[in-house]
Order: sequence, then structure tokens, then C-alpha cells
Amino acid sequence: MSGRLVLLGTKGGPAIRPGGPWPTSTLLELGGRTVVVDCGLGVTRGVTDAGLSLKALDLVFITHLHSDHVLELGPLLHTAWTAGLATPVTLFGPVGLNRYWQSFVQALEFDIEIRIVDEGRPDLRKMVEVVEFGEGEVLSDGDLSVTALRVDHPPVTECFALRFEHQGTSIVFSADTAFFPPLADFARGADILLHEAMLEKGVERLVARTGNGARLREHLMASHSLAGEAGTIAARAGVGRLVLNHLIPADDPDIGEADWVEAVRKTWNGPLTIGRDGLVVTDKGEDAP
Ligand SMILES: [Zn+2]
Ligand SMILES: [Zn+2]
Repeated sequence: MSGRLVLLGTKGGPAIRPGGPWPTSTLLELGGRTVVVDCGLGVTRGVTDAGLSLKALDLVFITHLHSDHVLELGPLLHTAWTAGLATPVTLFGPVGLNRYWQSFVQALEFDIEIRIVDEGRPDLRKMVEVVEFGEGEVLSDGDLSVTALRVDHPPVTECFALRFEHQGTSIVFSADTAFFPPLADFARGADILLHEAMLEKGVERLVARTGNGARLREHLMASHSLAGEAGTIAARAGVGRLVLNHLIPADDPDIGEADWVEAVRKTWNGPLTIGRDGLVVTDKGEDAP
């Protein structure tokens, strides 16, 4: 595969804790394009820590509007703008993304207008185009194509897996989803499948620690996939490598990589990466952050 995939944030859910990982965001460099998929808290720092200038931002995709995927989208673009962004950026996301973006630039109106006048910057509002998409083809631009599949993430209906293709390389993002068999067809033969994952024994510990336990367990089980289910999708799809991200739990000191591997190995025996922040993944394997 050509290109580079960097896991910027690998934690499922919006809360962060001291020393813990960051919510979901991923950097994909493919076919000369710089793509960010999901913009959870920490994405801006993550992009720069990956050695990339914010001025290189090009395409941003949001899988759904849960805050652990969109909270830092506005700040990412605004910070890129103050870092000297001079080229247009296109934001792709489900219905509601345009409202998010318009509300963000409205909230920052004072700062944006004063910097245009005071520092001679271009108008950020004219540099960003928002494209709201549904299922099917999202983008076809030269050799790069992106398609979307609606997945099963109740009560959110507008949540989409994404498939990026460039000259025979394909990368699929599951987005947040319960076990969803159609995803196997969508991910068929991909070089890399990034799939969200939850660990059953970790969920039990999480639920035990939280006041609203039974309700939380119900939500998690209805809306997310167990690690073994992610392995089943990977096996049915025949992907080159399975990467687990959006880990639940991601910051339980008593749960380590070995626990995740043990759970996935029941259904998937191919190349496997358990996500952690800063990890660089290729179809050959991974480089430590
Ligand atoms: Zn999420
Ligand atoms: Zn979600």
C-alpha cells in the first residue's frame, strides 16, 4: 500500500483522564492527499505530533456527530487558519455538519473578523466548503474515491463507515457500529480495516464503576461491537490487516493489549494491530509512536 495511516486518538467516548488516550481521530495520507477522519478532542495536537503542518490540511471526513468524533473540528480548522492555511479545505460529514460549522464560525466571529482586518488573513469562512453526504459515493477526485455505508449505531441514524480507495490501495473505517454484517461486504479485500471495539470484561468493570450502570451497559451493547465481532467482520471481508480503535475501555489499568488480542483471536487470525495514540500503521505492520 502507498500512503500512511496514523492513529491520532484511539479512545471510544468523549471523556479524558490523566495520562490516558485521546478520543477518536485518524490521519490518512493517500495519493498525495492529507485526510483527517473524525476530529475528537486532541486532533490538532495529534496532527502536528505526526509531523504534519496544519497548512497541509485538505480533506476532513466526519463519520457521525457524536462529540468524541467532532468536538475539535472547528478548533482544528481555525488553528490551521492561524497557522497560515492558504488553500481550501473540504469537510465531508452527515446531515447536521453544515449547522455545526456555521455555528462554530459564528461563535468565533469576533476573532475571525478582527484577524482578517488586523493581520490581513483570508476569510476562513470562504476557505471551507461543507459537503453533507448519505450512503453511496461521497467523493471521486482523480484516483481517489470515497464511499459510505450507513452502519448500525442507535440512536444515531446518520453514521457512516467510509472506504477510501487509491490505485489499488483501500482503507476502510467502520465508524461507530454494533455488529453489522453488511460491513463485511463493504470492506471486502481492503488492505486495512479500522474497526471499533469493545471488550466485554472491560465493559463489566466500566459499568460497575459508573452510577448509571445498567443503562450504560444497554447503550454500549446496542451501539458498539465486541472485539470478537470486529474480528468476524475482518475474517468475512478478507482484509489484509485489522486495526482496532475507538477502544472501550481505553484507560482501564487492568486491561492491556494481551486482553484485546485474546478476544480478537477467537474470530480473526490475520495481521492485527491494537490501536494506541500516535501509532503509524501500514499493511506491513506498525511503527511505534
Ligand atoms: Zn464514538
Ligand atoms: Zn458514536
